[in-house]
Amino acid sequence: MWNKPFEKLRRRMTCLYAAIFGALILVIVAAAYTFIWWEILAYEKENLVAQIYHEGEEWVESEEAPCSEAAIRSGKMLAYFVNADGSKVILNQLGTGEAGQELMSHKDDWPKKLNTSRLLRMQSANGASYRYLAAVAPVIDGDKQVGRLYMFKNMQFYYNAAYKTLFLLLCMALILYFAACYFGYWLAERNIRPISNMYAKQQQFTADASHEMRTPLAVMKLAVQGLQEVEDSRLSDFAKESVNMLQSESERLSRLTENLMTLARSDEDILPVYTAQVDITALCKKVASQMSLLTAEKKLQLKQEIQDNLVMQGDEMALSRLLIILLDNAMKYSPEQTQITLRAAKVKTHLVLEVRDEGFGISDEDKQKIFDRFFRVDKARSRSHGGLGLGLSLALAIVRQHGGSIKVLDNKPRGTVMYVKLPTAAK
Ligand code: ADP
Repeated sequence: MWNKPFEKLRRRMTCLYAAIFGALILVIVAAAYTFIWWEILAYEKENLVAQIYHEGEEWVESEEAPCSEAAIRSGKMLAYFVNADGSKVILNQLGTGEAGQELMSHKDDWPKKLNTSRLLRMQSANGASYRYLAAVAPVIDGDKQVGRLYMFKNMQFYYNAAYKTLFLLLCMALILYFAACYFGYWLAERNIRPISNMYAKQQQFTADASHEMRTPLAVMKLAVQGLQEVEDSRLSDFAKESVNMLQSESERLSRLTENLMTLARSDEDILPVYTAQVDITALCKKVASQMSLLTAEKKLQLKQEIQDNLVMQGDEMALSRLLIILLDNAMKYSPEQTQITLRAAKVKTHLVLEVRDEGFGISDEDKQKIFDRFFRVDKARSRSHGGLGLGLSLALAIVRQHGGSIKVLDNKPRGTVMYVKLPTAAK
């Protein structure tokens, strides 16, 4: 069975493969199209110049006109013959049609150097477009140049053929692209499957191990409690200290196993969601009043900016845990005499929960990592506060469980803002 992070990874990999395949297909189509077009053009240019020489020779021999009447009428091939310095027109075969007129009005664009050619794109006033390949070559009689002959070959046929080919190529590319997407999807699954299986086994192990540790831990906690209740005089100072240490460490261990179990379940998407109408205003006030004892002890001021009548569909226990995690972090990572603000407000169809502190802040680099399991920016400081590096992973799991999002921002001038956005309706 796929678990959620891998399904996301698979989708991301498929998109990546599809983008790479798509780009490759487009590059191949563009390269093939350009190459074919370039080859045709080079061939036609060479042919047209050769034809001008041939027509020039025939003109010199028998004054035979370069273009037939039919070619001029259909606009397939037109010609313009001038003397060597271009001052006198010897023969005008541009015809009376629109194409000839357009060519005449674009005389400046004709090729200027002998034995060269140029592609002319023209648009008439009524919107018709004309594409002609124009070439110019000398007409030589013996060793004397008697003129220069311009010939114009209609290229519209090639353009029409090229558009049709391009359309066909793009259709084929689209079919290929869909096939490539399907292949990418299949490839992504093949690549991810072994990692996903290993991950699932590891998750199962974490869930089972944490579950199995619950009972011995409960027994240990009871035993330690029993020892603590033993009359003071019967235990040495060292034993008392050891028992207290055992008690705090077994508390820590049992929190760790509970959190690990919750996270393993959230990965498998089997975190139970007891959805009901939750009075967020009341919940925020309740959690804030519970936390205010701790904030007061740390000489921190807890400010509440909680809107009235905030309600949403959700799991009250989980949402309360979310608030506690965020407020607890704000408290742990803020120096004395600073202020923490809990804000709750409705923004359109969402609720915004914001915990703002004036503490040590989080660097941009660490902002990406703090939601990772067991990640702690300052391990020593976090551990001294009893931090396990799982709080924000849990917060993220709870927010996702409710279909919301969580962001970490900088507070100005210092500190951190944890910004949670939750939909008011159930997921
Ligand atoms: P922890 O149990 O260590 O607090 P969390 O997952 O809750 O674990 O937080 C991960 C790390 O993110 C913390 O160790 C701390 O370095 C950093 N962090 C979280 N909240 C804040 C905050 N409000 N200000 C500064 N750093 C924070």
